[in-house]
Amino acid sequence: MNSAELTSLMQSTGEASYRSQQLLEAIYRQRVGSVEEISTIPRELRSKLAETGFTVGLPRIENRFLSQDGTVRYLMAFADGQSVETVWMPEGDGGEAGDGSEAGEQAERFAEGVSSDQKKSQGQNPGRSTICISSQVGCAVDCQFCLTALLGVKRNLTAGEIVGQVCAVLKDQEVSPPEDRINLVFMGMGEPLLNYDNFVKAARLLVQEVGIAERRMTVSTAGIVPRIHDLGRELIRPKLAISLNASNDELRSRLMPLNKKWNLEMLLSAARAYPLRTREWVTFEYVLLGGVNDAVGNAQEVAALLQGIHCKVNLIALNPGPGIDFTTPEAGQVTLFQNTLRARGIPTFVRRPRGRDIYAACGQLKRTVEIAKAPAL
Ligand code: SAH
Repeated sequence: MNSAELTSLMQSTGEASYRSQQLLEAIYRQRVGSVEEISTIPRELRSKLAETGFTVGLPRIENRFLSQDGTVRYLMAFADGQSVETVWMPEGDGGEAGDGSEAGEQAERFAEGVSSDQKKSQGQNPGRSTICISSQVGCAVDCQFCLTALLGVKRNLTAGEIVGQVCAVLKDQEVSPPEDRINLVFMGMGEPLLNYDNFVKAARLLVQEVGIAERRMTVSTAGIVPRIHDLGRELIRPKLAISLNASNDELRSRLMPLNKKWNLEMLLSAARAYPLRTREWVTFEYVLLGGVNDAVGNAQEVAALLQGIHCKVNLIALNPGPGIDFTTPEAGQVTLFQNTLRARGIPTFVRRPRGRDIYAACGQLKRTVEIAKAPAL
């Protein structure tokens, strides 16, 4: 619930409207686990809320997997037993903040007037931690290289379930924005723009109530063109990333069947028309599949497609998985692809894989759901 909804709930139950502010504070800032924990409101109101069937709380952390690189993959369960995965990357993934470079990070720290040493000495989280959240249980888009696709889509998450993942991770990691600098990416399981209303409501709650700045949030879409146009009109919205993944329609339709509905021309004209804010770019993600879309010729085609769009490209070498019939290209091929784009004036970065050993990297979110659902032996 947002502020307006909680205020009208308080009014309809005959409570003073300032109670809604106390509830918002308890839910989104203190991140309490139940109505009982809200000590700022009277006992009678707590019982009244409980009686009317309102629940306050966080998704249940069913499991945590810790990667050698510090990444944590959480399995989060909701009231109906469905679960999703949420990923904590203690030092970001190098692809979202600023221009993805160390220099960009230093520039940001400078702009904020705080050195990382100062932050460290204050015991705060100095870096650029990133939380990657899910928007649906499973996914309907069916990209051929992605493990989540193998699940199909089970259901949409509510705005509360989307925000709840963030609150649960913040609580578990004992960090709090804005003191701790937290980046957020809507890049977990699901296609956020196919759960548009809940995604937009969640983004507003995260900005207005949880306190994460808009410029620290990025939403990635496989290319739901009408919703890209809608997103451009939202007053509060994360930055936009588009999963391009191919350099021509024939290839993209093979890798991402949704390209048959919204082809490259429609997608790129939406990107061209997208209203950017100050210092904003559109990010294009490109998963490199060995021998499929990673040739210099593909890079040249990509450069031609993106001509005239204020954008950058994040390259992701395929993260492998069972049932995925593609291979990860050699590092040299990735560099060649990057250099080809750079030579044509497109800022291009290689996204460092995070948490591959625990199946937490891009396109790998699926495993624990299956394991958790498997019958006990
Ligand atoms: N559904 C949205 C949000 C997911 S973002 C979208 O498609 O954009 C996840 C990113 O990981 C996407 O850019 C996707 O193309 C990429 N990805 C999917 N499977 C991958 C894999 N096996 N290896 C590397 N990246 C992958």
